[in-house]
Amino acid sequence: MNEVKSPKKPLLYYYFVAMLLVMLFNFIAMPWISEHQIKDVDYNTFVTMTEQGEVGRVEIQEQSNRILFTSSDEKTVYKTAMVPDDGLVQRLLDAGVSTTGEEIEQTSTLVSILAWVLPIIIFVALGQYMSRKMMEKMGGGGNSMMFNMGKSNAKVYVKSAEGIKFDDVAGEDEAKENLTEVVNYLHDPSKYQEIGASMPKGILLVGPPGTGKTMLAKAVAGEANVPFFSMSGSEFVEMFVGMGASKVRDLFKQAKEKAPCIVFIDEIDAIGQKRSGQYGGNDEREQTLNQLLTEMDGFEGNNGVIILAATNRPESLDPALTRPGRFDRRVPVELPDLKGREAILQVHAKKIKVAEDVDFNKIARMASGASGAELANIVNEAALRAVRDGRRFATQADLEESIEVVIAGYQKKNAIMTDEEKKIVSYHEIGHALVAAMQTHSAPVQKITIVPRTSGALGYTMQIEEGNHYLMSKTEMENKIATLTGGRAAEEVVFHSVTTGASNDIEQATKLARAMITRYGMSDDFDMVALETVNNQYLGGDASLACSAETQTKIDQRVVELVKAQHEKAVNILTENRAKLDELAQYLYEKETITGEEFMNILNAQ
Ligand code: ADP
Repeated sequence: MNEVKSPKKPLLYYYFVAMLLVMLFNFIAMPWISEHQIKDVDYNTFVTMTEQGEVGRVEIQEQSNRILFTSSDEKTVYKTAMVPDDGLVQRLLDAGVSTTGEEIEQTSTLVSILAWVLPIIIFVALGQYMSRKMMEKMGGGGNSMMFNMGKSNAKVYVKSAEGIKFDDVAGEDEAKENLTEVVNYLHDPSKYQEIGASMPKGILLVGPPGTGKTMLAKAVAGEANVPFFSMSGSEFVEMFVGMGASKVRDLFKQAKEKAPCIVFIDEIDAIGQKRSGQYGGNDEREQTLNQLLTEMDGFEGNNGVIILAATNRPESLDPALTRPGRFDRRVPVELPDLKGREAILQVHAKKIKVAEDVDFNKIARMASGASGAELANIVNEAALRAVRDGRRFATQADLEESIEVVIAGYQKKNAIMTDEEKKIVSYHEIGHALVAAMQTHSAPVQKITIVPRTSGALGYTMQIEEGNHYLMSKTEMENKIATLTGGRAAEEVVFHSVTTGASNDIEQATKLARAMITRYGMSDDFDMVALETVNNQYLGGDASLACSAETQTKIDQRVVELVKAQHEKAVNILTENRAKLDELAQYLYEKETITGEEFMNILNAQ
């Protein structure tokens, strides 16, 4: 789609021009005008006029060496050069001419009116000119506000042949199905109006970051062939109270002029958070939210403006925003499943050159838990790697390596590990893999490596998912904990000492064990009681405990017992298979990276 950004106006430039014009007028034009208002006469005429009583007032300007005087009706101003004349004062007194009073120059009414009015005219004219220019650039959509403050700078995407369509968004079938109704409505509103049905005014797209929410919103506009206004919630938040609200007003004004259209507000939680109601709350944010609520109520259900908003923190939104009549429809946009991941990889692989034998299914299985944006990144990394290595297309190996880059960072080429460290890391990684392989329910390993990565990992074991997994049994979870403890267990069995290398394993094992007890009801003591609530489901899902201090103590005891039991199990498995452990560790130590297949071959060899 062609993105037509609202123009950036060089306001300072206009101010500068206006100031320059006013200064030119005051310092050059004004003196010139007043000079030309004054009639030049010779001294004799002045003397004659004085004697004949034709002079009104006189001002002697000694410094400029001249005399200004007016006619008796004070309508005309004359000037003459000063001539040494001792009798001048006496002559003026005789004629009864006043030599005091206001300066004669200032009395020219035309000039003084001009001095006041002209700058105002200049400013108004410039203002008019600027606002007309702005309107032209905004495609006639702007209002005639003179300044840029409080004006919505929504990006407008106008329809174009290569606009994003639903086909460009891979997977996410449920979300697409949900949004197809909106597209149908925008195509043919009469079908819905006939029966009296009204479209929801607002649709909330909720899901983790990078799952394609923005893409879906653009695709709705692309499919329906209508203009697309996009703005991020944080763009509404301004320094001054009321500015955000004015932006909201402006956005809706533009949208209504262009209806039917789609208005997309990204990260709506930036303005839509629950209002605290406390003294000293965030006034600006609340005013903006109130304005948004008012605008949403303000337009009739069927006028063709549909608001899509995206958030990854739906629970923090103000209830007034999610009530029926506002954002009453919620479309979940979840992390892609195996099929979705494969489809996303294929969509993005079309943009680069890839080898024909690439197994996208395998890549998708390796990248379990990755979001659409991460998968797009993986494909791009693979293309970059191919260029770096001088190949003309990306291969399976490029894609596999780029998954590791996205997960664990780049290889540290010149990290120097001592021989002893390398040995420990080899045993540690084989410990994980062996415990995993010996427990029937654990997924087989895909790759084991002891090449240090920029993320700080000295080595890792990549497990691979066989298919989609939606449920996990208690045994599977226990086995997973055992696998996580396998690295440390190997160090203990072989070296009878422990290192700091297991810190990440410890963290993960504890998290799993705690979740089993507090959230999944997998302990005998607490039955099916929820002891923890999850906050920010889409952003890492940290949990907060909701129980008494005594229960917390008990939970801690159970977690320790659970992890300890699995740790012991891992130690037993490794002790029983000590010979295989040594053989595999030695092999990894020599090769540095081994595949799952090599691992299984050695394991299964007699
Ligand atoms: P969100 O708004 O959910 O954070 P975006 O819509 O901005 O995510 O997606 C970021 C990028 O990730 C997109 O530009 C696209 O390249 C990629 N992406 C995400 N989901 C998908 C998908 N389902 N199909 C294809 N590409 C996707």
